[in-house]
Amino acid sequence: MSFAAVVPETRALLPRDLYTYAIPESIEHAVLPGVRVEVPFGRRSILGYVVERQDTTEQGDVKPIAAVVDDAPLLPGHHVVLARRIAAHYCAPLGEVIRAMLPSRIRSQTSASRRSGPRSVSRALEEARAEREPSVAPLLTDAQRAAAAPLLESIAQRVHRRVLLHGVTGSGKTEVYLAAIDAALQRGQGAIVLVPEIALTPQMIQRFAARFPGRIAVLHSALTEAERAAEWRRIRSGDLDVVVGSRSAVFAPVPSLGVVVVDEEDSSAYKQDRVPRYHAAEVALMLGELTGAAVVLGSATPRVETYFRAHGGDLELAALPARITGRPLPPIEVVDLRDELAAGNRSPLSLSLQRALRECHETDGQSILFLNRRGTATVLLCRTCGAALTCRNCSVSLVHHASRASCDCHYCGLTVPLPDACPACGSRAIRGMGMGTERLENEVRAMFPELRILRMDRDTTQSRDAYFDLYERFRRHDADCMIGTQMVAKGWDLGNVRLVGIVNADSSLHFPDYRSGEATFSLLTQVAGRAGRGDEPARVILQTYTPDHYAVRHATTHDYLSFARQEIRVRRDLRFPPYARLCVCTFTHRSDTAAEQEARGAALRLSGRLDAGDGLDVLGPTPAFLHRLRGQFRWQFTVRGQAIERAFAHLPRERGWSIDVDPAP
Ligand code: ADP
Ligand code: ZN
Ligand code: ZN
Repeated sequence: MSFAAVVPETRALLPRDLYTYAIPESIEHAVLPGVRVEVPFGRRSILGYVVERQDTTEQGDVKPIAAVVDDAPLLPGHHVVLARRIAAHYCAPLGEVIRAMLPSRIRSQTSASRRSGPRSVSRALEEARAEREPSVAPLLTDAQRAAAAPLLESIAQRVHRRVLLHGVTGSGKTEVYLAAIDAALQRGQGAIVLVPEIALTPQMIQRFAARFPGRIAVLHSALTEAERAAEWRRIRSGDLDVVVGSRSAVFAPVPSLGVVVVDEEDSSAYKQDRVPRYHAAEVALMLGELTGAAVVLGSATPRVETYFRAHGGDLELAALPARITGRPLPPIEVVDLRDELAAGNRSPLSLSLQRALRECHETDGQSILFLNRRGTATVLLCRTCGAALTCRNCSVSLVHHASRASCDCHYCGLTVPLPDACPACGSRAIRGMGMGTERLENEVRAMFPELRILRMDRDTTQSRDAYFDLYERFRRHDADCMIGTQMVAKGWDLGNVRLVGIVNADSSLHFPDYRSGEATFSLLTQVAGRAGRGDEPARVILQTYTPDHYAVRHATTHDYLSFARQEIRVRRDLRFPPYARLCVCTFTHRSDTAAEQEARGAALRLSGRLDAGDGLDVLGPTPAFLHRLRGQFRWQFTVRGQAIERAFAHLPRERGWSIDVDPAP
């Protein structure tokens, strides 16, 4: 008799990952790792994934597998191993990891009931499938060739190597990726290219589709479930071998993987914000180790942790320090908003930015105005009693959206009409403070009636393909000025953008997270990098109240290394990553006291179970940054240290707890 370790396909919280079943002789040959089976579970019959075969079992009452569902393993063998590594690294239930790897339609469908053919097709897929002139690879520069060399060797020898490609915006990183992919395809291997969700522009997909016609699969959130499942099957069968997608595309079932690209590796979009809380760059590296594929993490502003790893030898470092055109990066002019206020200018745009906008428009250039907050006013204050209007479910201020005459919570989605009196004291003197993109748009329209303006933020991109359409209109020069949040900051390569105005550089700086400096530096560098990609000279104007903050200062000189050096010292002094790993455990409950007590108890129990030799600290508990969210109170404690996994066995797993290993903002 032989046995199989099976992971049940269920959303239920299970006490363990694996359940053992006996393999009846009649299906002996078909029970392979990665196939789905039908098994009795409690009083029900459910689907499960076989992860390994066993010759013996210590379990007493073992039930037999009822049936094998798949003719061939649904999960490739290395994905079964990958799932186990992810579960171990992130202290996540194995079943949830496997669920995250597969499109829901694939999980729930059995071979017999398959049917592929969606009615309307997403713009992203249209772009990938459109007939167009194939593009020819340019001759790589010496710097690009040097950067590509370790990847090409890795692909030729089928030995995993990992590279951090640190290249300024417009330095030709994408051509390095394309060269590596080309080399892989020539050897009959496939490729996965990860981009942050917001970088999935038509331009980006066109560029890949023109280089590798008929081979591009697209996986991102704008696809329907049916489209996602269809793409997945075409990848699995080898029909499409270059996968371009957002973070979960790292799980694309490419049969013979040659290279994995993680572009803009510092993007927070790579961290999954629900279980399993993986980081796609980390998973890409695991995948490379398992398959022998080359892995390249690219960015103009890598996470300092990644840069530190490269210095320690864990990644090879390749640099592209100059723009491909040889032209310098656009100069960044700093406007101190304190001076502007002192001079009596109450407009969101400084006098220099107003002048620059006018000049840019007069010479037929296009401009981008970046403000990382949406809405009209980001706080509504009562001028009589000082109370701020807050969400009734969450401990955050409501944001005023004048266009829909509402006050919205950006965390839980609550929408209430703008009150005409203060809920606390009844005063009618309510005033909006703090500016979002909606108000900025109105002010710029009033100031420059002749300017054709588009706005891109989460409010204007609600409908499917809205992002694509706005981008296309701007690219075709149907608009002169694009106002937007971080959605406009990344990936765009538009030659006619001659002015970038950073309306408030400080908006992400005061976030209570140790990474806020890094996030600010990265965002400023990225958005500034949208300017000056064409032949015309370009300018960047950065408005700030804190010109002396090191993240702002180094961004204005495009000086990543000085920023990283200073940031790494801060991390070392405070014992934050990369000098330690973190694991945040959060307990959520409708009662604040109950949440606090549970968190206190769990933190104490954990401290009691750790040895001094483990080198781990337990910090807290404290209320979470969003103490109250969707009507629930949240308390958390943080485990900090090098060998963080020593704590995993002792972490609370009961309902209400969430565990976030290597948290990201
Ligand atoms: P990045 O990904 O670093 O922002 P890209 O690869 O998009 O840079 O390159 C910037 C621009 O330079 C693109 O328009 C690209 O087509 C062009 N380019 C890149 N490499 C070369 C090359 N070797 N020869 C000519 N043009 C190039
Ligand atoms: Zn009041
Ligand atoms: Zn809320």
